[in-house]
Formats: sequence, C-alpha cells, structure tokens
Amino acid sequence: MASSKAHHATGFAAGVIAAAVAARIGGGHDGAFYIGVLMSFIAGVAGSTAPDWLEVAWWSRARRLWIAHRTLTHWGIGWIALLAVSYRGLGHSIYAAAAFGFACGGLMHLLADWPNPLGVPWIAGRHSLNLWNSGHCDLIVVAASWAAAWFVGRHVGLPGLDLWQHLRL
Ligand SMILES: [Zn+2]
Repeated sequence: MASSKAHHATGFAAGVIAAAVAARIGGGHDGAFYIGVLMSFIAGVAGSTAPDWLEVAWWSRARRLWIAHRTLTHWGIGWIALLAVSYRGLGHSIYAAAAFGFACGGLMHLLADWPNPLGVPWIAGRHSLNLWNSGHCDLIVVAASWAAAWFVGRHVGLPGLDLWQHLRL
C-alpha cells in the first residue's frame, strides 16, 4: 500500500471531489442538501482508507486479516459499481451521497495503491503500474489527487464557494 499518510492526504482530495459532484448533482439548497454534501465529504475521507481497514478483523482481539491483503476489498469493479449505483441516487437520498463519497474514497485508494508492485485487482488478477515501491513517491500520488480535486472543483463547482454565497445573502 501507499503509506497511510498518503492515503489520508489523497482521501481529503477524494472527499472534496465527492462533495463537489454531490453538490452539483444533488441540486436544491435545503438543509438535507448540505448534510448530503457534508456526508459525501466525510465518507470520502473514510473511504480512502477503507480497502485496508475492511480487511482487518477489527472486532477480534488479534486483529488479523480475515481475507488476503489486496483482494476483495481492493476489487475495482466492486468500488466502481458502488460509485455508479450511488451516483444515480444523488439528490434523492443523503445515504446515496454518503455511499457516493465512500466509493470516491475507495477508488482513490485503489489509484494510490496501483503504482506499487503488489498492484490492484481491478477486474480479475492483479495489475500493477510497477512504478515504485510502497511509501516512495507519495508526493506524486498526493499531488496528482489534489490536481484532480482542483480540476473537478473548477469544472463542477466547489460547494464551499456556493455555501459562502448563500451565507452572505
Ligand atoms: Zn490498500
């Protein structure tokens, strides 16, 4: 895995992306709208580390992995399916906004894991970009995630800016 620091840093970017998209698609400006945007952000941050903590048996004392590292919880199709399903629910339910944020975070995690040699099982079998070892070049991964967040924010519109306008009215 990329270092957990890198996962957290990319996770905030994933949260920003999820919140921007949820705000754009969600429409409306009532309380539920802002809760949905906020939930998508928080879920994005949580989701960015989820593929790793989902495979730890945190309910047991030993905290062993209950499945092999980087298998089911790092499955690309699963996360993309969650993203697609929750995207369709945006604007209808704040739970969809949360699920959408979670999926954004999870995909961001997979992207961050992708370049190192262990790779990520996107479809079937692992694939690795084989660019560097874990922990190396975290800066590139983090910078790329923030570049993506900036791009999405610019083109979709950051909810924060919008919220600011509303507060002034
Ligand atoms: Zn991982």
